[in-house]
Amino acid sequence: MEVLKVHPRGYCYGVVDAITMAKRIAKDPNVPRPIYILGQIVHNRHTVLELEEYGIQTLDGGLRLDLLEQVPDGATVIFTAHGISPAVKAKAAQRGLNFYDATCPDVTKTHILIREKIQEGYSIIYIGTKGHPEPEGAMGEAPQGRVALVTNVADIEQLTFSDQEPLAIVTQTTLSQWDTKSVINALLAKYPHAEVHNEICLATQLRQEAAVKVSDQVDMVVVVGDRRSNNSNRLVEVVEKIGGKPSVRVESVEDLRPEWFDGITKVAVTAGSSTPSHITRQVVQQLEEWGKIT
Ligand code: SF4
Repeated sequence: MEVLKVHPRGYCYGVVDAITMAKRIAKDPNVPRPIYILGQIVHNRHTVLELEEYGIQTLDGGLRLDLLEQVPDGATVIFTAHGISPAVKAKAAQRGLNFYDATCPDVTKTHILIREKIQEGYSIIYIGTKGHPEPEGAMGEAPQGRVALVTNVADIEQLTFSDQEPLAIVTQTTLSQWDTKSVINALLAKYPHAEVHNEICLATQLRQEAAVKVSDQVDMVVVVGDRRSNNSNRLVEVVEKIGGKPSVRVESVEDLRPEWFDGITKVAVTAGSSTPSHITRQVVQQLEEWGKIT
């Protein structure tokens, strides 16, 4: 069995910068302790465990505003690459917390866009994943009643914006570019006057395009990524739907099952932008080992 490594794959610049910032903060003896991160810095448990070794505690499992309540007075808090709503920032400032913002510049760009569109009188239709922190932060830029989340075509029926209202359609950065196109088309059928702002970031696009392209050359694509990583799950989806090949997501080498590769002569390996390279390397090495005996 031959193993192809897909390029680009793995950590994007936004994730690298966020992790570097967190480690730099942890190494600074002048930063007040304890140090917390509001949510997983990126959706990968290996990265979360690594930061724990630096003394950084991850608060997870709720809305950012609720998680902030768990940060004691005088402590330090880091905001993740996914971005944060203005309400969370204001609350942290009001409580006098020492905070750092590791929001990816591509996410910040979307926040600025929403803010500007709201000021110009638009309402926002945000295409994103329910329960994901990025929509929570970005949609927090708009007042209630002037923003709605759409996850799929079925959600569009529930939208109550009028035909006359200025509307801006804005997307999350880590969606499948193909799925998003169909949701945008369905939205434009209902609101032909809406402005479209596709905010899927370049790192996401390039990883998806490379995964689809390699599908032509292989029997199967393995995606390395955490179950909560939106961009890793989208990679599996685009390989299956657009590339037309089977795909599996594994979090680490331990998840691999040899029987998946019975009858496979060529497999490709890619990774979500929140997956550390050493985890992907172990997956590649294991597949190469199995490849020698098939
Ligand atoms: S996936 Fe895109 S938006 Fe998210 S951190 Fe990476 S570069 Fe930034």
